[in-house]
Amino acid sequence: MSLTGLNFYSYLSRIRILKSYSSKIMLVAFLGTHVPLIALLLFFVLSTAQDIETGLKILAIALVATLVGTFATLLALHKLLAPVVLTSKSLNRYLTEREIPNLPVGFQDEAGSLMADTVTTVRKLDELIHYMANYDGLSGLPNRDLFLEKLTSSLSELASREEVLSFPVLSLEVTHLKQIRSNFGLHLGDLYLRALSQKLETLLGPDTIIARTGDGEFSFFPTTSSSQVQESYSEAWAERIHEAASSQLNVADHQISSEIKIGISVFPFDGKSSDQLLWKSETALNQAKMGAISKIQTYSSEWKERMKEKYLLEKDLRLAIPRNQLFLHYQPRVDMRTGRTVSAEALLRWNHPDLGIVSPSIFIPIAEESGFIAEMGEWVIYKALEDMGNWKKKGLPHTRVSVNLSAKQLDDPNITKKILQTIEKNDLNMEDVELEITESCLITNMHSALEILGELHSWGIPIALDDFGTGYSSLSYLSKIPLKTLKVDQSFIRKILTDPNSLAISKTIIALGKSLGLRITAEGVETEEQLRKVKDLGCDEVQGFYFSRPVSLEDLEKFVSN
Ligand code: C2E
Ligand code: CA
Ligand code: CA
Repeated sequence: MSLTGLNFYSYLSRIRILKSYSSKIMLVAFLGTHVPLIALLLFFVLSTAQDIETGLKILAIALVATLVGTFATLLALHKLLAPVVLTSKSLNRYLTEREIPNLPVGFQDEAGSLMADTVTTVRKLDELIHYMANYDGLSGLPNRDLFLEKLTSSLSELASREEVLSFPVLSLEVTHLKQIRSNFGLHLGDLYLRALSQKLETLLGPDTIIARTGDGEFSFFPTTSSSQVQESYSEAWAERIHEAASSQLNVADHQISSEIKIGISVFPFDGKSSDQLLWKSETALNQAKMGAISKIQTYSSEWKERMKEKYLLEKDLRLAIPRNQLFLHYQPRVDMRTGRTVSAEALLRWNHPDLGIVSPSIFIPIAEESGFIAEMGEWVIYKALEDMGNWKKKGLPHTRVSVNLSAKQLDDPNITKKILQTIEKNDLNMEDVELEITESCLITNMHSALEILGELHSWGIPIALDDFGTGYSSLSYLSKIPLKTLKVDQSFIRKILTDPNSLAISKTIIALGKSLGLRITAEGVETEEQLRKVKDLGCDEVQGFYFSRPVSLEDLEKFVSN
């Protein structure tokens, strides 16, 4: 571009006090508007024919007129210069703060197009810079940096929703990329990657974020707000992607396919940050690449089970009490000698709206981990004792109710008070209730657990040690707990006739319990042979499917009455 037009401007630029563009224009305007006045002044000085009075009048009028005119001109010019000044400031702000200029675009003259063109140019430039920094030129997909950025924002969005959710991050690699390149050439190799990326994009749809995270590697995750999250739990999802990615693609009239491996990591089990999740899905991918058989590898193997059981259920479990989805079943415990039902164990049930009845062995650990077990356990105490109160009022044969206590409940310093109040409220006696604890209740806080158990015992509430033999079975504490009953775990009873070890352990447990003066209950007795065996070994009570499965309160009534 020719710079000849800039001579005058560059001359003025050399004058120090005229640093800003406006000041140059102002000076010129000022001088320009003062020419008539100066001319008049000169004329007045040079001429001698005038009478002084008239001359002074004219001069004063001219002076005032010039000042007013100058002021108005300067003001107008200042306003007219606004587009230039604004554009310059906006550009400066873009350079320093990356703020896209927001200038008016409707004006038709040069100043108008200066503003409009500035906006358009900067926007395009910015998009280009963003694209170059965040996208992969070959596939047009986000690159690794942008992938991590999107994953991070998805994670923080999830955190803000306080929702319990889990989702997988998958890394997929074309393991034969080298061979493809050497067989078909670099160009076709690139075209193949482009075709594959398009295929994946179409297959995954808009609810999945996909990126090219390596040379032959693509990574993706379902956006957490989408329904894809649910689908992605299934193994079928990864299988389907694998199948599509490994199928033949038509690339410039060549049929090209490659072996594909997929690695999976799962939020939150395998990590809670985007770096960890991508790193672990790539670690799993590398494991898959090393193995000849597995085409899809998860970072931790139990993820599916854990995900389904834990993270989906935990969300619903919070609502189980308010939505009245919990109820109790009772399983009778029968006295060996008399054949009468001595007690009934309250076993919690959850009627899940979609899954049906969920086993407590699935949801109790979840409730324990997430802390709702305390609330849930209180509900069980409240409900079981209420049922037993009504049972008594009906004059049914005396049966004690057994309630399972979890470790967390023994952390509650008010637990004794709560139990005593509920007993009183339902007109029950202390010995109408029994509490079942496991060895794990004592592990975390032995001291306070023993204190609470001592309290309960001193009030006359019997305590049973459940699942005995499976836990940490330290004999030293056994004598310290104020126990009435020892329940031999069902895993021993199940194998008591077939496995000599189980028989030996059962015998030892029974002998130990007897020597401590405890009543012995055999759990999980299913057959007549097992019943005979535990009777021979000296068990006092039996609980198991042989007599009854856990049943509703009404069915328990029938069982006891027969
Ligand atoms: P648990 O306290 O050992 O309860 C006995 C479990 O063994 C029950 O399973 C019962 O259905 C099952 N069972 C009884 N007899 C037999 C038999 O002859 N054969 C077989 N195969 N199984 C038998 P359930 O009801 O699924 O409960 C599982 C566990 O869930 C319970 O084990 C207990 O640890 C926990 N649980 C249940 N309700 C509560 C509760 O209200 N609070 C707490 N903290 N835990 C509970
Ligand atoms: Ca139990
Ligand atoms: Ca048990």
